[in-house]
Parts: sequence; structure tokens; C-alpha cells
Amino acid sequence: MVISSARLMKRASNEGYAIPAFNIDNLESAMAVSEVMHEMRIPVIVQMIPRTLNYGGVAMYPAMMRELMADCPVDYALHLDHGSSLALAQRCIASGFSSVMFDGSAMSFEDNVKYTKEVTDFALPMDVSVEGELGTIGGKEEGDSDMEASYTGVSEAEEFVRRTNVSTLAIGVGTAHGIYKGEPKINVRRIKEIHEAISTPLVLHGASGLSDEVLRDCIAAGISKINFATELRQAYTNGIKAEFEKDPEVFDPKIYMRGAIDNIKEVLKAKIKICYGL
Ligand SMILES: [Zn+2]
Repeated sequence: MVISSARLMKRASNEGYAIPAFNIDNLESAMAVSEVMHEMRIPVIVQMIPRTLNYGGVAMYPAMMRELMADCPVDYALHLDHGSSLALAQRCIASGFSSVMFDGSAMSFEDNVKYTKEVTDFALPMDVSVEGELGTIGGKEEGDSDMEASYTGVSEAEEFVRRTNVSTLAIGVGTAHGIYKGEPKINVRRIKEIHEAISTPLVLHGASGLSDEVLRDCIAAGISKINFATELRQAYTNGIKAEFEKDPEVFDPKIYMRGAIDNIKEVLKAKIKICYGL
């Protein structure tokens, strides 16, 4: 059953684990996530960025997941990752998303509050949870090299959740999207400080490339959702490459895509085990 991310994360937060959130791109990555939920019987968050929705169509992804999960009793969430407008959030909700992010982290604090609140005012009455973002997560959102300045402050986090009523909050603690160039320095203490100050479940972006140990430390400090995207895309592509190496003459996508799906599944299972402490 599709339920909101916040409901899954509240359970996780109370019991000291985190919900893994997996970005899908197409039918094959959706199949990988669905097969793993069937096999492990464990809830996850399935999410898509706006670029993915432009690629396959907003309504396509919930329809695929509904079809793939029709015979599976496991709860999961359908989440818009890095949404950038109320209009897109509304389109996603109309198509069956149970959770949306509004990323106003590049805006001024006041604008971030204002536009995030427009989304919570619309979504929360429909039992759709809203993830806000405060502070800077590196990679595409990166401004300059002053990482300390981009850490989410404790008092601004308190004020932000009070004024926006967000269900969950993505925080900047030194992570970056994409592939890390150097050794990432994650401010685990800041996670703990924010977690102690607010009851809103916390989200970690840019987790691809962090060691298992760092991920466990982040969960212990109070992270309830961890996003994985880059590593899944790498596994997908490497899986296809391996199939062509095995048989350069292969031409049936159903054959070489199976390699991609199986390769993604290995990564999904490993991340699930870390997040759930299995
Ligand atoms: Zn992100």
C-alpha cells in the first residue's frame, strides 16, 4: 500500500532505523525496487526527481509501481525528490504520489519558508507528507567551498519547521550529490544537535559514496531517511556493460536489462541492510 514517507519515517525514528529512499529512472529500476520489496518484505521510499518525470511522464511512475506492487502487501511511499514548485507537487499528488519535497534551499530563508508553506498547506490535509530542505547539500546545489557556512543551523531548523510545518527535513551536514571528489566530511554531531532540538524526522541526501560506517553513524545520530541515486545509476549501467562483455552480439533488451536489474538489486539490498540495521 502506498503511504506517506512521514508515516514510514516516524516508525523508523521511533525504532532507531532509517528508511532508504531509492531514485528510479525507468521500468527496469522500478522492477529492481519492486522485486527487492517482494523478496525482503521491507518498506522503502521510491522517488523521482523532476528530470526523471520529464523523461517518462509524471503519471507513468506511480502507474508502474502500482502494477509492479499489486500483489505485494508491503507499504511503500511514492515521493517527489527535489520538487521546485507547488504546481509540480500538485501534479504529482494528483497522479498518486504520497509525499513531495519542496527544495527551497537556494532561496533566502524567508522565501524558503513562504514557498515551502504553500506546499504544506496544500499537501498535508491530503495525508501527503512534505519534505523541506534547509542548508546546502553539495554537488549540483553547491555554491562555493565554504562548507561550514552551508551546515544547517539548529535554531534556524527549529524556526523553519515551526513556521512551515514540514513533515520531514533534509539538512546540510557536509554531504554532496553525485560522485565525491575527495573524502567527504560529515558533521554527525550537527545531525545529533538538530535531532535533539526538533522532533521532525531528518533526511540525508547525497549518500552515494559514503561508507557503511558513516551511514550507520548518521542513523544513530538521528537520520530517518537516506537517499540513494548515483550508486543505483552506476549499478544499472555497469550491469548492462557486463552483459555486453559476456555477449557482444546480444540484441534483446530483455536479456541485457536483466543484468542491469540484478546489479541494482545487489546495491538496494546492501543499503536496506545498513538502513534497517539487519
Ligand atoms: Zn538530494
